[in-house]
Amino acid sequence: MMMADNLFLKIINKELKANVVHEDDQCLAFTDVRPQAPVHVLIIPRKVIRTHDDLGEEDKALIGHLHLVAVQLAKKLNLTDGYRLVLNCKERAGQTVPHLHLHLLGGRAMTWPPG
Ligand code: AMP
Repeated sequence: MMMADNLFLKIINKELKANVVHEDDQCLAFTDVRPQAPVHVLIIPRKVIRTHDDLGEEDKALIGHLHLVAVQLAKKLNLTDGYRLVLNCKERAGQTVPHLHLHLLGGRAMTWPPG
């Protein structure tokens, strides 16, 4: 299966609407349109990075920043009992949008292993 167009770039460029819950100079976070948990937020870099596999040395601080934003949002969204961070890399792992993103999921108990 081919990955769809980069819809997230359209959200960054404000060509497509999203329910934005965090925005700064490096990233954006917005609620997932098909939530898989009571809280389901996507955290994306403004920089276009297609997949996790495309990260380079120059992205060290950026990827760290995305994680720290996840911590901030988890606090803001009251995920005190825990949460799950998911990053699907490429189609075989379930990636459908070709723009690196962290899923922040919470508000219910999670099971393991993932499907
Ligand atoms: P992934 O399958 O890991 O690539 O995750 C892509 C996620 O983006 C899915 O959970 C979709 O529900 C979500 N998604 C797709 N289009 C939009 C959109 N326009 N606004 C918010 N979330 C979206």
